[in-house]
Amino acid sequence: MKNENIVKTNKHFFDVVISGGGLSGTLMALSLAELTKADGSALTIAIIEASPVLKNASLTYDDRVLALSHGTAGYLEEVGAWQFLSSSAQPIKQIHVSDRGHYGKARIDAREHKVSALGYVVEMTLIGQSLQRALNEKNALANKQNVQWFAPDTIADIEWQKKEVNIHLSSGESLSTNLLLGCDGAQSACREFANIQVEKCEYGQCALITNVTTEQPHNNIAYERFTETGPIAMLPLSHGRCSLVWTLTPELARQMRELDDVAFKHQLEISFGSWLGAITDVGKRDIYPLSLVQAQEQIYHRMALIGNASHTIHPIAGQGFNLGVRDVQQMAQLIASHLASQKKQKIETGQDRVNDIGQFSLLSQYAQQRKTDHQQVIMLTDSLVTLFSNSLPPLVAGRNIGLKVFNYFSPLKSALVNKTLGY
Ligand SMILES: Cc1cc2nc3c(=O)[nH]c(=O)nc-3n(C[C@H](O)[C@H](O)[C@H](O)COP(=O)(O)OP(=O)(O)OC[C@H]3O[C@@H](n4cnc5c(N)ncnc54)[C@H](O)[C@@H]3O)c2cc1C
Repeated sequence: MKNENIVKTNKHFFDVVISGGGLSGTLMALSLAELTKADGSALTIAIIEASPVLKNASLTYDDRVLALSHGTAGYLEEVGAWQFLSSSAQPIKQIHVSDRGHYGKARIDAREHKVSALGYVVEMTLIGQSLQRALNEKNALANKQNVQWFAPDTIADIEWQKKEVNIHLSSGESLSTNLLLGCDGAQSACREFANIQVEKCEYGQCALITNVTTEQPHNNIAYERFTETGPIAMLPLSHGRCSLVWTLTPELARQMRELDDVAFKHQLEISFGSWLGAITDVGKRDIYPLSLVQAQEQIYHRMALIGNASHTIHPIAGQGFNLGVRDVQQMAQLIASHLASQKKQKIETGQDRVNDIGQFSLLSQYAQQRKTDHQQVIMLTDSLVTLFSNSLPPLVAGRNIGLKVFNYFSPLKSALVNKTLGY
């Protein structure tokens, strides 16, 4: 099939090459698209994406629904994508946490934390489409065309030179760059070419996802309910729907997927309880195996890892993409301030400096600045998985006391809410 989005070019040097045009990769390109170099010209950016990138982005993204933090929504607004997304994004006004069959409950309210919403829930396809629309608009502006897609294509080989990286694609094209950004997901090819090791923990769990409608309106409340079969997240979605993420053992997830709709609705009502009344409708069910994959290094010679290529985490707290957005934001900020200081130097000295944005000093700042956030989110997510997927009596008692204490202890609540909000 002919891909209208691809502009083939004879010019093979790009200031930045991004491997992977999923959410992180497209957002990365969007964040850099308007930056200019000391000579006033725009950064040239190549995106290599394994899937065909079509005008209808629904073909490249799956049926996942994501909870975007307040901070992520703010950043998407800053880069010009939120305007295409806001009407479909359902605000979360309250988060309600409970443990099935136990007394512990906790509530987090947007008003208490002086924000209009704790986050937003929206289909992954729509996020992808909004990013591509914003990128196309920026690219079309003043006929710049500084962002070019190579898709469907993958990296076949990488030569790491002192001053640049030479990238050979499966299609036979060759690109060179000062900076390679690995946004190519959990199985990152960039990570493998650089021989960066990963720490991997299989949770022995799967996420069963689907959208449902319920007898009672969701009233913009996100429910996180811990049950004997595993945690259930029921997130408020547009058109009166809720997005379900149900963490189950692989065997149980398969059984639940195979049930007919009536039997599935019944099982869900039993586990989730009557918070929203009966489940009236259920959509297509999909299963995702869950693991924690953590790259041991964030950077390599003229390369950095971003998003899932750096960290793939359990969706229990809905933090995976939000964490990746902060990677993108940090990298874009570092590149922008590097270019700004070069422009300043050019004005002061009259000398044109080389725009080398792949310097080790910039990359090591990135690795340093992202470390704490990565560790905190991974620890928070991992602890929630251990604590709430466990039926050992001391842990059950502990988490119920924890939920009660949490509900009344403001500093603890504020600390967690700050992370949830994406700050
Ligand atoms: C069930 C579930 C629910 C989730 N819920 C949430 C949530 O509520 N909130 C949240 O913030 N996060 C959530 N996440 C996590 C979120 O989906 C991911 O963090 C996010 O999609 C990662 O985006 P990415 O672009 O970094 O990686 P990916 O989505 O994996 O994209 C990588 C891209 O690179 C391309 N690619 C791969 N290999 C190559 C190659 N060799 N060459 C070129 N291209 C390549 C792929 O085709 C793809 O387009 C959830 C995840 C799951 C599984």
